[in-house]
Amino acid sequence: MADDAAIRIPARYSRGPADAGTVYLVGAGPGAIELLTLRAARLLGEADAVVHDNLVGDQIMELVAPGADRFYVGKKAADHALPQAEINALLVRLARAGRRVVRLKGGDPYVFGRGGEEVEDLVRAGVPFEVVPGVTAASGIAAYAGIPLTHRDHAQAVVFATGYLKDGSVALDWPMLARPRQTVVIYMGITRLAEICARLIANGLPASTPAAVVRHGTRADQRVLTSTLSRLAEDARAEGIKPPALLIVGHVVSMQGRLNWFSP
Ligand code: SAH
Repeated sequence: MADDAAIRIPARYSRGPADAGTVYLVGAGPGAIELLTLRAARLLGEADAVVHDNLVGDQIMELVAPGADRFYVGKKAADHALPQAEINALLVRLARAGRRVVRLKGGDPYVFGRGGEEVEDLVRAGVPFEVVPGVTAASGIAAYAGIPLTHRDHAQAVVFATGYLKDGSVALDWPMLARPRQTVVIYMGITRLAEICARLIANGLPASTPAAVVRHGTRADQRVLTSTLSRLAEDARAEGIKPPALLIVGHVVSMQGRLNWFSP
């Protein structure tokens, strides 16, 4: 159950009430309800219509005003409940009808969330909009799994990449991803885990490089599996790890055993 006390937002944080006829593209964070921004919580309570994905948890949906219309538009890698063009058209239609529309997405709307595509259509249609950032899976999960994304001893850069491309391939810049002294975070990569790990090794990362997959990070059922690049895919299969899960590769993963604090 959502804790009401946690979501009463002092007026001094207000950026004003939500406007009719506006689309708010809102990041819901990685799952844990208290990782929502104050702005997101306020807008959910004020919305007339909420258009949401499957990555947004039920607890967060409890913040939506009881009278608001809810539109579930799904979104799993290959299997969209509603095609992207229809989602965009729905947002435009609701806004033109004078609704305060929250388009709620897991994580951050501008990190592998197609937020840019939706906003382009709003601009084309002349619909006013606002973008509310959220905690992206990489930073939420890094914190809750005990894996610092950067560390002066281990990684001076961090790269976010997607394991799922529009045409179903994993045509990534492998030499860039296999560079030393960086952390690589791959979203939507779990179904291609064996291929991704093999490519990283083929492009120069040692087979012994620490790597982790985290399923349902920040949630009560978070699962963290640490291994090495050469064994991770097999271990994940043996453990039955399924999407949504995040892949983190790099020496920072070796700190997980010591820095892990979240025991749901
Ligand atoms: N906009 C989102 C990402 C959407 S892509 C964000 O900023 O986080 C969907 C992918 O994000 C999933 O396939 C998975 O790789 C990752 N992801 C999102 N939430 C997650 C969670 N709680 N635990 C593990 N992975 C998650």
